[in-house]
Amino acid sequence: MKIFKTENTIKRYISEQKKKGIQINFVPTMGALHGGHIQLIKKAIGPDSITVCSIFINPKQFNDPADLDRYPITVEDDINKLEMSGCDVLFLPPVSEIYPSDFKSIQYNLGYLDETLEGKFRKNHFQGVCMVMHRLLEILKPDKLFMGQKDYQQCIVIKSLIKMFSFKTEFVTVPTIREESGLAMSSRNVLLTSEEKKLAPNIYEQLKYFKDNIQTKPIAYLKNEFINTLKNKSITTEYIELADAEDLKIKKEFDHKRSVLLFSGYLGKVRLIDNLIIE
Ligand code: AMP
Repeated sequence: MKIFKTENTIKRYISEQKKKGIQINFVPTMGALHGGHIQLIKKAIGPDSITVCSIFINPKQFNDPADLDRYPITVEDDINKLEMSGCDVLFLPPVSEIYPSDFKSIQYNLGYLDETLEGKFRKNHFQGVCMVMHRLLEILKPDKLFMGQKDYQQCIVIKSLIKMFSFKTEFVTVPTIREESGLAMSSRNVLLTSEEKKLAPNIYEQLKYFKDNIQTKPIAYLKNEFINTLKNKSITTEYIELADAEDLKIKKEFDHKRSVLLFSGYLGKVRLIDNLIIE
């Protein structure tokens, strides 16, 4: 696997590949790689293409400085995992490559997406996500971009960024990979204590219960049940909402259209998110 740390060197390499007719499949990450990330890499591997993974902990998308300080860093281990998975290229830039001193940030017009759910509870989070993804898409100009359903709203935001700037990149959503317990894999899971790890799978259990009862019980009732059940398992719900799967408009009642149940909450100090699609 080739490792590049600067914009110029990776750009040169990518343009050489493109001249040979090779397609660029891109998987952006913040490292501390787990089975979910590796699944994205596996999906990105294909004929006549190279798979490029980036590891960059983007300071601009952390609204809480303590969250950034706590974020796990396991670069050596990540490199081994990428080598084993068959990834071709790792882009591992320092902050100064992504945000050089002459970097000019812009405001992304995300409208409603910036104000609801993650946008509401993590102020400026998606502005930071767009900032880094805009830079990475400009540097790598990928043919395909692979991102996880685990971060559902992020997928919608990035699809709209691609449209906004007319990037010729196809967006591929990869379903959430879970532990055997049902807990969605996340880099933040390593921050859970062993006791908290036993409680965390209740989130997925309750999402499934919500989905299974959506035709027969009112949404407000199911939301209350969800919040109270998780509270008894030491999990504090920040939001649990049923939303339209395309535009994330919140639904007060189930309307049999493609929807998504979205959760965020805290287990101890660790913020966890999860979601379930309802077809
Ligand atoms: P992160 O390193 O957390 O920024 O995640 C990098 C990419 O991996 C994002 O597109 C995430 O949605 C995706 N991802 C994270 N966890 C999972 C998971 N459990 N299953 C599938 N994709 C995931």
